[in-house]
Amino acid sequence: MSEEPLVSPCPVCGAVQDLGSPRYRGRVCGDCESRAVEPGTGRRVAGFNTGFGGGFVAHYVDDVGRSTGEICAEVTDGHRVLIDGRPFRIDEARFGGVVVMPDASTAGEDPDGAAGA
Ligand SMILES: [Zn+2]
Repeated sequence: MSEEPLVSPCPVCGAVQDLGSPRYRGRVCGDCESRAVEPGTGRRVAGFNTGFGGGFVAHYVDDVGRSTGEICAEVTDGHRVLIDGRPFRIDEARFGGVVVMPDASTAGEDPDGAAGA
């Protein structure tokens, strides 16, 4: 079981993506990541590194995904976002950048398909 291909379907849209690392199996693709919102407010957010050594901070972003410069404290501290109404965890990636993964508290749970329509 150690030779699995480093590809995985996006848990949101199902698009097959090249992971680069098995560490990020199940990660959300870039398109879906761009739809992440802050729970509660529904405002769009994106994660950023705080410096060259990594670190994580969430900013509110505008309609095209550019940072507004305003820090979203709830997501920065809690690492929780919603994508299409489902909870995900956002955090810094090991080698820079940001990765969005299924929320550990709901992992393994079947997201019962098209709920929430
Ligand atoms: Zn996707």
